[in-house]
Amino acid sequence: MTSLKEFLEFDESGAKYELPSLPYEYDGLEPHIDEETMREHHLKHHQGYVNKLNTELEDTPFIGKPIKEILEKIESFSDGVRNNGGGHFNHSLFWNLLTPNKNEPTGKLKIELITKFGTIDDFISQFKEAGLKRFGSGWVWLVINQDDNLQITTTKNQDNPLMYGHTPIIGCDVWEHAYYLKHKSNRGGWLDSFFEVLDWEQANTNYVQALHENKQ
Ligand code: MN
Repeated sequence: MTSLKEFLEFDESGAKYELPSLPYEYDGLEPHIDEETMREHHLKHHQGYVNKLNTELEDTPFIGKPIKEILEKIESFSDGVRNNGGGHFNHSLFWNLLTPNKNEPTGKLKIELITKFGTIDDFISQFKEAGLKRFGSGWVWLVINQDDNLQITTTKNQDNPLMYGHTPIIGCDVWEHAYYLKHKSNRGGWLDSFFEVLDWEQANTNYVQALHENKQ
């Protein structure tokens, strides 16, 4: 899975959802994200969301449908679909935004972040602040709204921007399961680690695609 659009539209109607494999090794993001956390997070937590989503949608016409169709109409589904479909989508997006090959802000996204936030460092500090303020479990996001404006938002539990009419560009998991083994209760340290392994090239790809989709 290299493209957000590709993942969102992936259609295996009638078949069960599957855990996507990671595009790097479990220890590939060391020392910023430790191998034990990656294994637990991918093989236990994400697998759990996939399994429960399959159970929720078993014997319905929605099993295997593109996840985008489900998330955009989430009000017509159960809380189980909301939490586990959101979990499956959020984690798939998240893994794909991480890389062992450190890179720098680039492309149209870099230009627009500087226009909107002043500097990349100012963007990062506002993103971190929003992540620290998210009470309880949830996610912090850079999204575009329907007017193409970049915004920092947060969501509770496994909710995500698509449920609120926004398109995610960058997302960071601030559930304790994402960082507790290494960082204990230091969520700020976790957000710093996230930016050490964030794939800015993928973020720019997500941004360019989201702008394109908005026009359609
Ligand atoms: Mn998680």
